[in-house]
Amino acid sequence: MGEKYFALYRKYRPRKFCDVVGQENIIKTLVNQIKLNRISHAYLFCGTRGTGKTSVAKIFAMALNCFENKKNNLAEPCFNCTSCQDILNKKDMNVIEIDAASNNGVDNIREIRDEVKYPPVNAKYKIYIIDEVHMLSSGAFNALLKTLEEPPEHVIFILATTEPQKIPVTIISRCQRFDFKRIKKDKMFAAIKKYMAEEKINIDDDAVNYVIYLSDGAMRDALSILDQVIAFYFDEKIDLKKVIEITGAADDSFCCEFLNCFCEKNLNKILEMINKIVFGGKEISQFVYNLVLFLRDKLVLINSNGDGEILSLWEERLINLNKCNLDFDMQMDLLKMFLELLSELKYAIDEKIALEAKCIKFLFEKKNVDGFEKKEPEKKILNKENVKPEEKNNRENDIVDKKKLDDVLKKMIFNADGLLKEILIGAKIINVKENIIYIKAENESKKKLLDERKDKVKNLLENEIDLMNLDLKFVCEKKNNSEQKNFFDEKEFDAKIKKINMDVKIED
Ligand SMILES: [Zn+2]
Repeated sequence: MGEKYFALYRKYRPRKFCDVVGQENIIKTLVNQIKLNRISHAYLFCGTRGTGKTSVAKIFAMALNCFENKKNNLAEPCFNCTSCQDILNKKDMNVIEIDAASNNGVDNIREIRDEVKYPPVNAKYKIYIIDEVHMLSSGAFNALLKTLEEPPEHVIFILATTEPQKIPVTIISRCQRFDFKRIKKDKMFAAIKKYMAEEKINIDDDAVNYVIYLSDGAMRDALSILDQVIAFYFDEKIDLKKVIEITGAADDSFCCEFLNCFCEKNLNKILEMINKIVFGGKEISQFVYNLVLFLRDKLVLINSNGDGEILSLWEERLINLNKCNLDFDMQMDLLKMFLELLSELKYAIDEKIALEAKCIKFLFEKKNVDGFEKKEPEKKILNKENVKPEEKNNRENDIVDKKKLDDVLKKMIFNADGLLKEILIGAKIINVKENIIYIKAENESKKKLLDERKDKVKNLLENEIDLMNLDLKFVCEKKNNSEQKNFFDEKEFDAKIKKINMDVKIED
């Protein structure tokens, strides 16, 4: 690669205030402070990664010590004076950058405390930039607080963090706080198009939009994705397909087709498509993440007013979102399921099996909820049309086929959940007599449990046959007292159910 080596994120890291993308209000305030010479002794820069905190801190530090800019009532560093030159040539002693992630102890901060007493060398200020400041230990925070309480005139602290909530209030209250926002999509788009034109790289708008979408408002992330794509497709035109290829994502039509399988309840196709993902060398977790984003976009598309900032999508995504047939409930359920899976995948031994199991379970449960078992025509055993008014009180005659009774019970077991399923497995519908359906429980304790759940059992039964004015009774064979110790333990049952749960999950 040699000279052709790209590192866009280094190359396009802003060096001047005017190069910073987004954060206009922050820049304006800092620029004015320099021009008016109203400098605070401590700043706190907060915001998500890649939004420019450290870059702005460096520009600000350079500008503060620049000898030329203030003469001309400018804020931008001149890059020519001795201070600017020293910083550019890494010979400067006055701007000190500390990464709190690796220097988080009391001693590190005490060192600073001892150092700050000495004045800067050939410059106005000694400036400490402490990155990831939330990583400091509480002892270190205390030491820092002492310094912030009575700072020497010539010292300025710039603290940067992605997690301001982890910083003690006593520290925050002594700083001027600036919150760096995620960069707006149109701003990122314009900046990336400009960089790409400078690099003479031919890239289409859909590809740029997709990169912005993946980077979630962080310019650094967007540029490092582009670095990868450009390194691979050097001298070629870059389109959406190539970005998708490099980032290991599944394309939109594949996601759409996969999700539509859930409408069609087509398990075979779902499993086939999962195979395709794996044999295509793609990551299951990346695929699941793509599905989450796709579902999120679908929900937002339907329920928002189409605000460009919330939903700025590329054409192929829009086409496929419209082709996706999921109804609202299904979208919500699937989104919930894939989000759960995404966190479970971190601990899964086999991501493919985890995804398969989750999909099978989902369809299986949907089958119950939708009740398309219930829609089967043969479900009614008691034929209403055959029941004449005078026969109403003697309807047990309609139920003749014992085999049908077994089928009814099977369906009830299928539809029951949890403990009730287990109890019903040992039960039997034994008779219909004097308008009462008798269900025999396996033993006395299970009969008791059935009695307690009579309404639930009735509901299950009602799904299969028309109960009309039939009632339900549970019986069991009376046995010797000694045999009754076969007590049914609910806790034991729960433990058992957990074991056979289809989720592939490893506790950490
Ligand atoms: Zn200068």
